[in-house]
Parts: sequence; C-alpha cells; structure tokens
Amino acid sequence: MFESEMLIGGEWVPGTGDVLQVQNPATEETIGTITNATTEEIDRAIHAARKAFPAWAGLSPFKRAELLHKAGELIDQRKDDIARAMTTEQGKPLNEARGEVSKLAQTLHFYAEEGVRVHGEIIPNESNAYQSLVVREPIGVVAAISPWNYPAELIGWKIGGALAAGCTIVVKPPELTPFSPLAIARALHDAGIPAGVVNMVTGKGSSVGQHLVESPLVDKVAFTGSGAVGLRIQQSSLTVKKLSLELGGNCPMIVTATADLDAAVKGAARRSFRNMGQICIAINRIYVAESVYEPFLSKLAAAADALTIDNGLDDPGADLGAMASAEPLGKTKAHLADALQKGARLMAGGRPPEGEKFRKGFFFRPTVLADCTHEMQVMTEETFGPLVGVAPFRTLSEAVEKANDTPYGLASYAYTKHMDEMRYISSRLDYGNVAINNVDAGIINAPYGGRKQSGVGYEHGREGMLEYFNFKHVRICFDEPEDA
Ligand code: NAD
Repeated sequence: MFESEMLIGGEWVPGTGDVLQVQNPATEETIGTITNATTEEIDRAIHAARKAFPAWAGLSPFKRAELLHKAGELIDQRKDDIARAMTTEQGKPLNEARGEVSKLAQTLHFYAEEGVRVHGEIIPNESNAYQSLVVREPIGVVAAISPWNYPAELIGWKIGGALAAGCTIVVKPPELTPFSPLAIARALHDAGIPAGVVNMVTGKGSSVGQHLVESPLVDKVAFTGSGAVGLRIQQSSLTVKKLSLELGGNCPMIVTATADLDAAVKGAARRSFRNMGQICIAINRIYVAESVYEPFLSKLAAAADALTIDNGLDDPGADLGAMASAEPLGKTKAHLADALQKGARLMAGGRPPEGEKFRKGFFFRPTVLADCTHEMQVMTEETFGPLVGVAPFRTLSEAVEKANDTPYGLASYAYTKHMDEMRYISSRLDYGNVAINNVDAGIINAPYGGRKQSGVGYEHGREGMLEYFNFKHVRICFDEPEDA
C-alpha cells in the first residue's frame, strides 16, 4: 500500500477529508488511498506558499539552482521506486516509467541552469537623461494541476519553471496517479527546498482543483488536462490571474509519396500507441498519399500486431501496458464502434489481448482503421487510446486542409524526403509543434504549446520559465553629477 500524506508548509500531514481509493489498472486491485483535501487544508497550503514566497523570490538564483540540482539528483537516485509507483498506479511498462522519471530529473537540472540566465533589457528613451529598465520578477504563488498520463513529467515542467523563476507552488496531482507525484514531492522536500516553497494537496479536481483555481491568493494557474476542464478553469477564475492551459489534441500525420515508408510506419506505430495512445501529442489520424496508401496500411497493421502488451510490472520491457482506467478504454471502444459503423476497415486490433492474465485490467490491442473520413469521431475528436484512423489523399493541399480541419492545434507530423514538401507542409500546419521525419515533437529546451482549443501558453524551454515572470518597467531620470 502506498503512502498518502500531503505536503503542507514543509510538514507531511495525513489529511482529514474523505478517503479515495487508488487502483492498479492492470489488476483492478486497490493499491492505496489518498484523502480529498478539505478547504481548510488547501487554504493552509496556499498560505504556506504565500508566506514562503518573499524569501524564495529573494534568494539568489544560484542558490535556487543548487537546490533544484540537488532535487534532480535525489529523484535520479530514487528513480526505481518512483517508477514502480508510477507503473502500479498508471499501467505503463516499468522501463518507460523509469525513462519518464529520468526526464523529470533532467527537467529540474535544465531549469536550475535556465534560472541563472534570466536577464532584463535597457530600452532607449527620447532623452538620454532617461533610462528604461525592463526587469523580470516572479509572479507569486502558482497552482499546478496535472493529468494522469505522465504523472512525473507534467508536474516537473511546472515545478522546474516556477521554482527557477522564484515562484512558490501548490500542486494538485491527478487522483488516479497520486503516488509517484507524492514521491517526487518527498524528494524535493528532502533536497532541502525550504518549507512552503513546494506544497502538494491530493484529491478531486472538482473540489480541490476548483478551490485552488478560485482562490484570490493564487497568482497563476498552470494546468494540463482536458479541454473541457481547461475551459471551465478559464471561466471560473474569480479574480484576474495568469493562466497557462496545456490541453488535448487530435494530432495528424501526413505521409507523402516521397516518404521513407518504413521510417513513417515505425514513427506512426510509436506515436499512435506508446503509453496506449494516452498522450496529448499521440497521432490520432494519418493521411497517406494514394500511391503508397495500401503498402503503408499493411505495414502499419503488421507493426501494430507485433507490439507486445503486458502488466508493466511483470514485463518491464513490454511495448505497452494497461490503460489507466475504464474511462479512456470505454472512449476507445466507442470511437472504434462509431468508425466501423460508418464504413471504416479494421486492419489490426479491435479487441482486448487474449489470455487469462488480461481477464482483469484495462487492456486493448493497438488498433488500426483504414478508409476513415471526417464524419468519424476518431478523425476529429481526441480518443486518448490505442486507436488510429488512416485515410488516403490525392493532393498535398487536400492533406494539409484535412490535417487542419479540427478545433485542435497541439502537434502534427509529416514524413517526406522532399524539401519543397517539407516547407509547404510545415508552414501551413496550424499547430504549435510540427515534427518532420520524426515523432518526438517536444524537447526540453524548445517551447512546447498548443494553438486553438489545445491551449494557451508554453512549457519547456526558456519560454516555459518566462510564463512564471511579470515584467516591470523601471524608468529612471538621471542628472549630471554637480562636480562633473
Ligand atoms: P482532466 O481535465 O479530467 O483532469 C486534469 C486535472 O484537472 C486532474 O488533476 C483533475 O483532478 C483536475 N480537475 C478536474 N476538474 C477540475 C476543476 N473543475 N478545476 C480544477 N481542476 C480540475 O484530464 P485527464 O482526463 O486527467 O487527462 C487527459 C487530458 O489531458 C487529455 O485531454 C490530454 O490531451 C490532456 N493532456 C494535455 C497535455 C498537453 O501538454 N497539452 C499533456 C498531457 C495531457
């Protein structure tokens, strides 16, 4: 059974609210409980963050960097334990969970370094007697709210950027996967980050998350999650505050006639099905040039069928584990049924894996559908499951038009060997991220964010840290010294 205390003002407290059960999605067994923080406990965490803010903001960025580096090192040392907690609560294979924890450690090291490079500007004035300084100051108290698909990384981007900038933070981890975030909070605490700088309160989004968003003592909300909740947050904030919203997507891939077909298939299989498709930048739909459509389809179906699936603790190196809960599995089945009923052709998957060990748990085979149209949900809505729809195209302009034809704008992909096609596609795709001849659309030192209904603001990179600053313009009038 996993630990469930909350971190408030540097103290680990058990919490007095309702108890919520947490399940292992591969076995449906209860693995621990958390408490739904009461409003008094949430307010105590916010007050602790407020109290800690002036000293943390006033600390030298070099000192903050030292502490962030130390936290990164501790997280790396505790990688196996944190990863085991993550696989047990989320379902992804253990090796993948280890990789995610390593990336979290790298994020903290990255922001430790980035924090010491914050600088302002000196702006010219009409008269040389004046000087305008533009300085950056930390915003204040941040509420960080994140989903269950990447329980470590998504919290790490927020903690890294906020702490490096000099902000303090109250984190509400996802209720499905609270234990790996709590282990991360423990590492930050043990690294010597002062009391109140990082707080973590557990519980439901509708009560704990909502209370954080509504608090007038919170200066910024950093949210990753669904579009519906993101919109609710934007609409329900009672005071003016800065928001960054990293929301869902329905990400397209274009495969042109000049593409390296095997590389495109490899990329498509990886980015459609990794983490059981529960990735905001998962490929949901693929548009393939007519001349290579059937060969691409049969290769992708074979690649999907070759992926191994298992309980991620039993087989750490499996390609895929369980889905995180019954909800995304139900949506995957609903999108599949909708597409089949509207004429899609099933090329791979479409059923749970066979065997006694899959009798319990939320498992499903990676599924490929051919001949999909935009009348089908899979082509226009986020499935968040191991399902991808494929459709042929005649001209590149038709492919780009279809790729842009959803309310989303998070990530997009293309495979082509032709420079002219690369430029045509990348300049016309209305997405925050475009990956060409690869499917890793985000790297820690480049900005990452969505357009349209996929969100506002950025994480990753320098831009991800600048979200936690206010600008201040200081305009000074100088006189000549009397004895000059
Ligand atoms: P969700 O929106 O249901 O929940 C996300 C978080 O918000 C959870 O911690 C939840 O408790 C909390 N929450 C729920 N209601 C709230 C409220 N009223 N006020 C404040 N907080 C509230 O999302 P989910 O189902 O956990 O995650 C899947 C979604 O996240 C997908 O849409 C996916 O695309 C998106 N996502 C986006 C990115 C990105 O970087 N753009 C990354 C990962 C996931």
